[in-house]
Amino acid sequence: MKRDIKQLIDRCDKELQPVWNRLEEISLFNHEKVLNAFQQYRLSSFHLQGGTGYGYDDLGREAVESIYSNIFRTDAALVRPQIISGTHAISLCLFGVLRPGDNLLSICGKPYDTLDKIIGLKYENDQDSYDSSVSTPGSLRDLGVKYSQVELLPNGGFDFPAIERAIHKETKMILIQRSRGYTLRPALSIAQIEEACRFIRELNKEVIIFVDNCYGEFVEKREPIEAGADLIAGSLIKNIGGGIAPTGGYIAGRSDLVELAAYRWTAPGVGSEIGPSLGFSRSFLQGLFLAPMIVSEALKGAILTAKVFETLGYDVFPASDAQRSDIVQSVILRSPKEIIDFCHGIQAASPIDSHVAPEPWAMPGYNDPVIMAAGTFTQGSSIELSCDAPIRPPYTVYMQGGLSSNYVRLALSYVLERLHNN
Ligand SMILES: *Cc1c(COP(=O)(O)O)cnc(C)c1O
Repeated sequence: MKRDIKQLIDRCDKELQPVWNRLEEISLFNHEKVLNAFQQYRLSSFHLQGGTGYGYDDLGREAVESIYSNIFRTDAALVRPQIISGTHAISLCLFGVLRPGDNLLSICGKPYDTLDKIIGLKYENDQDSYDSSVSTPGSLRDLGVKYSQVELLPNGGFDFPAIERAIHKETKMILIQRSRGYTLRPALSIAQIEEACRFIRELNKEVIIFVDNCYGEFVEKREPIEAGADLIAGSLIKNIGGGIAPTGGYIAGRSDLVELAAYRWTAPGVGSEIGPSLGFSRSFLQGLFLAPMIVSEALKGAILTAKVFETLGYDVFPASDAQRSDIVQSVILRSPKEIIDFCHGIQAASPIDSHVAPEPWAMPGYNDPVIMAAGTFTQGSSIELSCDAPIRPPYTVYMQGGLSSNYVRLALSYVLERLHNN
């Protein structure tokens, strides 16, 4: 590591000591929550064996799901290696619960990109408007489920008067996306989600509040069900898998809703009763056990990155001293070249594929070439250090993950050397 770069990173690290103390406190709190759930279940080594075939009475699966329910403070959870991704888990919730004629309402603007085709939206060049005449076959829209959305306010908060106007008697489900995803809006904090749930409940007791919890787990002390949500979903190759789960997704919440999602996942009437854990329970549980620490390390890496780039005069989002509710860090660079240098630095620092150089590439669903850097043990894992950026102004790179903050620190020095030398 070059001396001036090392000094810069060291100085930022020292100034962030009060932030590290706060992260440490959250990590300890969540670690205790997880440990208590393991102990209350009386987890034993035989739970780590895997069921096969139909998976009837799979003890490992039951342990995993019961422990997840405990951690999320709810009655039911579906945690399966056969749920492939966050998108899959979210899709199960939407198709499981919604019926023709129902209305799905997003109260935080446009949802994450992969939901476009599930809902049946086809976004044209302008990302904020959609062409409602085009529908994906098999989408919610194709089945007669309507969709509407309320934008967040410019300050990132909920627009309560607009939400009140948008909720009507066909509104069956409200969608809240906790993470910023790949946009420049702030993540929604648990306190904000709680305020929204309370507001919605006063207007309508029946409407189902669903939270896309991807990238949010263990960033705060509480999770969305504790704030009043009915149903949540997420991916095991993000926060809650702790970098150990090699695949999988989860759904948690009210037991009738989790079962409806499970009906969609296997078959009506069969639901969550089947599904072998195939030996994955061990990695799910070990990942969960480590997740509070891993999430804290990833956050530490994100915040250090924010501080270093702030010090160098770049805009970063969120700022190093901001409250966080997800693990995503964006840095606004100054040119396409800087984006490429940044991504090359992250790639070169990786434990895997460090010798390859990612190139901007046309991606389905994106209007501009996208560059991605990741050298991960699990394909596509974004609790491992990774970053991606569309090559267009405002030249924003989105970075997340990092199984150790020292590794992110080293990666940061690779990035700075490249930016510095060019
Ligand atoms: C990652 C993510 C998803 C989709 O998850 P995949 O596992 O990539 O399918 C959905 N919503 C948000 C906010 C995400 O961050």
